[in-house]
Amino acid sequence: MASASDQNRGLLLVISGPSGVGKTTITRALERRLGGVFSVSATTRPRAEGEVDGRDYCFRSDLEFQQLADEGAFLEQAQVYGEYRYGTPREPVDRQVAAGKLVILDIDVQGARQVKQAMPDALTLFIMPPSDAELLRRLRERRRENETSIQRRFDEAKREIAFAQGSSVYDAHIVNDDLERAIDDACCLINHRRTMYQG
Ligand code: 5GP
Repeated sequence: MASASDQNRGLLLVISGPSGVGKTTITRALERRLGGVFSVSATTRPRAEGEVDGRDYCFRSDLEFQQLADEGAFLEQAQVYGEYRYGTPREPVDRQVAAGKLVILDIDVQGARQVKQAMPDALTLFIMPPSDAELLRRLRERRRENETSIQRRFDEAKREIAFAQGSSVYDAHIVNDDLERAIDDACCLINHRRTMYQG
């Protein structure tokens, strides 16, 4: 059980995993349970229906994104699925971790590698689907993309999983076969990490 002072220790948490694996649900649960702060990324991807600028992402043009990159405003950045650019704004992360917050990044494997290099104390978690077949089923169920896009994300997901399993970027892999258990596992790892750095 973590003490109140553990909760005051700042921690940068990186969550990665393929689309459709339940990252967003897990991230939002950690925000609520542990008082975590979600880091809102900048992206050149068009806003999807239901998404809010400044809450889900800061939607930027290619030019605006490049200007931010040139200014060194990103802690990490990557082109994801060979398509759009995504980046984590550096200043809010530094400020909130220094203020003792749990700051949560939902970023891809390329970004996680950059963060781990820049901030080795960051806790990096990779969320795995129970199986390839289940991942494909969940991607289809979201009804967010067309079949070509779904297949591209599915192929990319298999590459991401292979990379995550064969690299030392991630401190732990969590299989999301049962959502509550996956959230509990993440909470345990976070509390453990905060306790480890105690004193
Ligand atoms: P989506 O377009 O489905 O919202 O996100 C696609 C992928 O981009 C997800 O795997 C997500 O984790 C990743 N992503 C979102 N924001 C960032 C970011 O700031 N940096 C990096 N490297 N990846 C991101």
